[in-house]
Amino acid sequence: MSVRRLLIVAAILLLTVAVFYRSWAAGSGASGKLFPYAYSIDDLSNGLRLVTVPTDYPNMVALYTVVRAGSRDEVEPGKSGYAHLFEHLMFRGSENYTPEQRDALLKRAGADSNATTNQDRTTYYAVFSKEDLEEVLKAEADRFQRLQYAEPAYKTESLAVLGEYNKNSSEPTEKLDEALYETAFTRHTYAHTTMGYLKDIQDMPNQYAYSLEFYRRFYRPEYVTVVIVGDVNRERTLEVTTKYFGGWARGNYMPTIPTEPPQTEPRTAHVDWPSPTLLAKCASPQLRPLPRRWHCLPG
Ligand SMILES: [Zn+2]
Repeated sequence: MSVRRLLIVAAILLLTVAVFYRSWAAGSGASGKLFPYAYSIDDLSNGLRLVTVPTDYPNMVALYTVVRAGSRDEVEPGKSGYAHLFEHLMFRGSENYTPEQRDALLKRAGADSNATTNQDRTTYYAVFSKEDLEEVLKAEADRFQRLQYAEPAYKTESLAVLGEYNKNSSEPTEKLDEALYETAFTRHTYAHTTMGYLKDIQDMPNQYAYSLEFYRRFYRPEYVTVVIVGDVNRERTLEVTTKYFGGWARGNYMPTIPTEPPQTEPRTAHVDWPSPTLLAKCASPQLRPLPRRWHCLPG
């Protein structure tokens, strides 16, 4: 290679490195940290954790209430899907707020609010203006400590979950996920999806008493992290969080989650599908936290 060509190649390499560094730095903020915002962590004496992230977005506040209970915590045979069921039940009213009152409060606040469940946690969130923080937090604290749902409402909601399962099952990837997890995990509770096994979902309407037990176990301060992000400061968030969550009694439940033995050979599963489609997924139980999707080919 001539000196001139060598210089050109070196210049291109330098330029590539510079562009890469600039985009990496932009993505990680001026500080170079992966999470560029300053934040504080306060642990209440009952075990609840508060994370405050002040940002410079004027007037906006996001409240995330995260419960460290997902489908991996569903350790009893016949009782899969309850973490996700609670994502529904938590909108069914509490001691001091009917569902309609709660909806009206969030509507007045112009709040965007919803929830999600996965294998490891259930997350409830709302985004609103900072002057509504106390009112929204007060209602949030009420449903986390004093959820109230009668058996007929419970049955209705558990049947809604069955409907959700049936709807999802029209999507081939959902059925493939079921087969994937069940094949990849022989003992660990990652063997079932967040929706749960169909037979367990079908039995949910008969399990009102068990649902109360699930709430009693996991909706406890030591399982909950409150994350408040936006136009807030630590002093204010700690004051209102302590006011509404500070009296919450700690629980004592710890699930025993089976350990997955090392996998010593490849395993495969095949799911027949009546209409044209071609999908493939692979997983490694050694990868944490979840099996990985490999690829999807529309057929
Ligand atoms: Zn759902």
